Amino acid sequence: MHSNLIDGIWRNSQTALRNDNPSDLDDVVGEYASGSPDDMREAVAAARAAFPAWSRTTPQQRSDILDTAGSEILARRQVLGTLLAREEGKTLPEAIGEVTRAGQIFKFFAGEALRMQGELMDSVRPGVEVLVSREPVGVVGLITPWNFPIAIPAWKTAPALAFGNTVVLKPAELVPGSAWALADILQRAGLPAGVFNLVMGSGHVLGPAMLDAGIDALSFTGSQRTGQSLAKACAVRGIKVQLEMGGKNPLVVADDADLEQAVECALNGAFYATGQRCTASSRLIVCNRIHDAFVTRLAERTAALRVGHALAVESQIGPVASEAQLANNLSHVAGGQAEGARLVYGGEHLKRTTRGYYQAPALFADCTPDMRLCREEIFGPVAAVLRAESYEHALALANDTPYGLAAGLCTRSLALATHFRRHAEAGMVMVNLPTAGVDYHVPFGGRKTSSHGPREQGRYAIEFYTTVKTAYLGS
Ligand code: ADP
Repeated sequence: MHSNLIDGIWRNSQTALRNDNPSDLDDVVGEYASGSPDDMREAVAAARAAFPAWSRTTPQQRSDILDTAGSEILARRQVLGTLLAREEGKTLPEAIGEVTRAGQIFKFFAGEALRMQGELMDSVRPGVEVLVSREPVGVVGLITPWNFPIAIPAWKTAPALAFGNTVVLKPAELVPGSAWALADILQRAGLPAGVFNLVMGSGHVLGPAMLDAGIDALSFTGSQRTGQSLAKACAVRGIKVQLEMGGKNPLVVADDADLEQAVECALNGAFYATGQRCTASSRLIVCNRIHDAFVTRLAERTAALRVGHALAVESQIGPVASEAQLANNLSHVAGGQAEGARLVYGGEHLKRTTRGYYQAPALFADCTPDMRLCREEIFGPVAAVLRAESYEHALALANDTPYGLAAGLCTRSLALATHFRRHAEAGMVMVNLPTAGVDYHVPFGGRKTSSHGPREQGRYAIEFYTTVKTAYLGS
């Protein structure tokens, strides 16, 4: 069994999680500990005990450890990518790309540890100076989803540690392997006992235990339902909270778009990584004049996508990550047809030589904005095309959603691009690019019900992982 890491010690638990390969259900990736509430309490207590010393380490000490971890992740990207592809199901190149990003994130925050700056100002009172400085928040709980098994743990853990916090990570049940590998790397990179703790297991069991054990801050990425209930629980306990809860991201295709480029953006944004990205383009809003050519070409390109085993070189789309997610996708496909949308291509469960959760990417046309297909986050390879009468109509449709994570536009017009950048109600805007696929050194996050709290990643990550102190210094 792969153990939990609590207070610098690898500890088995009474029960285990079996980590299955969604490309091949006969391949078991491994057995992983499934922690108890007591394990979680001990992990939070260990992080609490380790905090005073860790928060007083020099930036150089923290930077060196993060840099070492980043170097190992990058050096082992092939092996870690293979593990990730086996447990989550994204294709090997996508998985290696994700691991590379995790390594780069550790390198980036190794630098940021050295840039934890403050401000010095003269007071409005004579003979007084004001010093504004940042301090770590304390013990930070991290709860992460299954779709980015190493990148999301990395982009929460690296800034938490860089700025002097101690950490308890609870990864998603489906993908404990990459989180375990990250814990192993951090442990060997020289972190003192208790600074980083890993407790794998059920969210329903460990989430409440984590909050009750007395963490100072919680960073969560996952479903809206879980995020909103955690936000309430954090509010009554006074826990600082940051939530990322998905999207229903529009890609607008203006009449003047380059057709091939727009189709490429849609194909990538809607279906790559099996559509399991919170920034996926699940609503394709296409202006009237280009609409029919776009749907025809996108259907051809979608039909040509090769769905297969995540580790097979010819695969472009891996399996869906789990049985429950596949069932959810198929029910949305059936629901879309019942609602009157036209299924242009795909949507069915596919058989391959290995038993797995394979699904043909589903492309719907003739959708209307009130359909569930256009309102609910599906989190799978299912895309809905909406026809727009004009750019203004397309923009209104794009903003007609409770979500606000990413929004894309394909156009050749600078004026439209500028207008869209200013008026899209989203945290991230992409022009002539897929809505999914973001950089690691700039802020990530959304508006409306997609996100809550400060942004993640880049220099902006410091807002969540530190608290500001204002000191008045008299003479
Ligand atoms: P998804 O549908 O993407 O799996 P979830 O919100 O269910 O999204 O899961 C995201 C993360 O939240 C996982 O690590 C999961 O274990 C955890 N989780 C699920 N339920 C709870 C809960 N009640 N409290 C805390 N964490 C939870």
